[in-house]
Amino acid sequence: MLFDVIIIGGGPAGLTAGIYTSRARLKSLLIEKALAGGQVATIDLIENYPGFDEGISGSELSQKMERQAKRFGLEIIQSAVQKISLHGKIKKITLHENQVEYEAKSVIISTGAHPKRLGIEGEEKLRGRGVSYCATCDGALFKGEKIAVIGGGDSAVEEAIFLTRFAEIVYVVHRRDQFRAAKIAQERAFSNPKIKFIWNSAVKKIDGEDSVTALRVKDVKTGKETTLDVQGVFIYVGYNPSTEFLKSIVNLNENNYILTDEDMATSVPGIFAAGDVRAKPLKQIATAVGDGAIAAISAEKYIEENF
Ligand code: NAP
Repeated sequence: MLFDVIIIGGGPAGLTAGIYTSRARLKSLLIEKALAGGQVATIDLIENYPGFDEGISGSELSQKMERQAKRFGLEIIQSAVQKISLHGKIKKITLHENQVEYEAKSVIISTGAHPKRLGIEGEEKLRGRGVSYCATCDGALFKGEKIAVIGGGDSAVEEAIFLTRFAEIVYVVHRRDQFRAAKIAQERAFSNPKIKFIWNSAVKKIDGEDSVTALRVKDVKTGKETTLDVQGVFIYVGYNPSTEFLKSIVNLNENNYILTDEDMATSVPGIFAAGDVRAKPLKQIATAVGDGAIAAISAEKYIEENF
C-alpha cells in the first residue's frame, strides 16, 4: 500500500504534520502506538498553548487535533512499528498490528520522548504500585496520602501542584536549590501550603514490599540521609527520545535526539523529523506544532522534486 507520507508518532507534531499533508492532498497515514496526543494527552491543564484562554486539558487538545486531521483525510492506525526500511527511494514500514507492509515516498518521524528512569533501588519493583511517571493517570489513587515528586523542571513543579488536589502533603525533592521550571509555576508551588520542598537532595532508594512506604533521600551538601514516609513517588526527571528503532538509520546527537536542519530534514533524503524527538533547545507544544507544519511542507516539496 503506497502512501505519499507516513507519519510515525501521533503527538502534536505528528498530528499537525498530518493536518498539513492531508490538506496538501497527499495520501497520508499516521501510525501511533498508543493514544493520539502522546505525552500531551496525559497533561491535566495546558495554559501556554495559544488560543485557549482558560487553558485546555491535554486529552481534549489531543482529541481536537486528531479530529481536525481526520476531517482532512488523514488515516490513523494504532500500532507499534515492527520493521522499518528507510533508505531506498520508497520507504517501507511493517506494523505489529497486521504485518502489512506500508510504503511511502516520504516519512515524518514524530515519536516524541518517554520519561527517564531514576535507576534507583525499588523504582522498577514498585512501578505501578506507588511509583508513577504520570500524575494525571495515577494522582487520584493518593487521596489524603503523602507523596513525593522528584525533579525541578516544568513537569515536576506543575504536576506537584496538580497532585495537591488529592494528596495531603506533596514533597518536591530536587537535587539543587533552584528549580528550572517557569517562574509562574514556581510561584504557585511556593504559595501552596500542601507542598514541602526538599532541596539539594538525591533520591537513594524507594522502600516498600507490595507498595511504596517510604523514600530515602540524601542531602548532597551535608551527606545526611533522611526517610520520608510516602505512599507514592512521581518521577519527573526529564525524557529520553523515542529513537531506539532509528539507530544507524538517521544521524542522532549524543543524547539520541534526531539531528535536522531548519527544514526538519534528517540525514536521509525524504525522512523528516518533528517535535520532541528532534535535537532542539525548546520543547513545547507550540514548538512541536511548528515543527510538524514545516516537516509537512518539506515532505511535500521533496515529493514534488523527486517523484
Ligand atoms: P527537564 O526540564 O529536563 O527537567 C528535569 C528535572 O529533573 C531537572 O530539574 C533536573 O535537575 C532533574 N533531574 C534530571 N535527572 C535527574 C536525576 N538523575 N536525579 C534527580 N533529578 C534529576 O524535564 P521536564 O520538566 O520533564 O520538561 C521536559 C521539557 O518539556 C522541557 O523543555 C519543559 O520546558 C517542557 N515542559 C513544558 C511545560 C509547560 O510549558 N507548561 C510543561 C512540562 C514540560 P537539574 O535542574 O538539576 O538539571
